Amino acid sequence: MRKITLAANWKMYLDESNSISFIHKLNADKDLFSDKDIILFPSHACIRAVKDHLDISLKIGMQDCDMHTQGAYTGSTSINSIDIDSCIVGHSERRIVYKETNSIISDKLNTILSSNANPILCIGETLKEKNENLAISVLDKQLSILPQDLDGKQLTIAYEPVWAIGSGDVPSNEYINEMLSSIKNRLKSLYSDTDLHNIKLFYGGSVDASNIEELLSVKLIDGFLVGSASANFEKFKEIVRKIKL
Ligand code: PEP
Repeated sequence: MRKITLAANWKMYLDESNSISFIHKLNADKDLFSDKDIILFPSHACIRAVKDHLDISLKIGMQDCDMHTQGAYTGSTSINSIDIDSCIVGHSERRIVYKETNSIISDKLNTILSSNANPILCIGETLKEKNENLAISVLDKQLSILPQDLDGKQLTIAYEPVWAIGSGDVPSNEYINEMLSSIKNRLKSLYSDTDLHNIKLFYGGSVDASNIEELLSVKLIDGFLVGSASANFEKFKEIVRKIKL
């Protein structure tokens, strides 16, 4: 049976006290959230508190990490600084706001692959690139940093068109299917069946309770990376209800 994963990227929306109150609400709704394939991505500074307050079994991840794991890197966070399940890398906000190049993202990806956490590599085209029919070549370039083999690690590729993030502008299912098919073909050309089995495809960009059911009919989608709607407990709960994870 298809098992959908829900990854909640809280970005910088929730401070420590808001993160803890979100977790208390999850705990109070055990029947709905327990043992669901949900990964919460709090701010780095709130991960400890989230872990300490969570009474149910959900996964926890980092929104980003340093390419180094230890040393004189003021203000940065090592993937090994706390035990986590997953780490986002290459999010468009990192690429655009923090000017992270493919080369930086490649170093970070390799660091995550060498750690105990599994990476979620975000890729996606801007509106300009889409309008210039460059989407597939942009995705190919962003995928060119993938390692030759995965050595048994789980990898997730999150297709997140930049123009869909935070805009309320969700692509049609046909468009998402076309992009995910292209990603899948690229992965098939790179990896063995065993590695392919360990790769998931997510969609992200303005996902909420009003569009999740429609998006679920794209069969190539294994999960969703959700931003703003995941940081609001009632909206998040509505999504979880509708997915019936
Ligand atoms: C994201 O930034 O990963 C994202 C999907 O954001 P939103 O859901 O707010 O569009």
